[in-house]
Amino acid sequence: MTAAWVQLQDALAETDNRLVPCRNDDPELWFASKKLERKRALALCGGCPVRDLCRTAGRQGREKGSWGESQAQRSKAGFAPAKS
Ligand code: SF4
Repeated sequence: MTAAWVQLQDALAETDNRLVPCRNDDPELWFASKKLERKRALALCGGCPVRDLCRTAGRQGREKGSWGESQAQRSKAGFAPAKS
């Protein structure tokens, strides 16, 4: 758990869930193996009010899946997902 993850959880607790796409759609979409599904998830992230915090949490935690950006974007920024 990183500081950014805690900040994200705090922000999510204060945000109307209806405004956070991954809380309204199938959460698995954000961890999909199919490129088309991952692209759909990222498109939905575009309107998310906590996207910046989510992106930072994904980077700090070197998370897999879409955390407001693609894994490729995260890797390019120097935050490749951790190996499992
Ligand atoms: S930016 Fe993060 S919190 Fe927002 S919809 Fe995307 S994955 Fe969910």
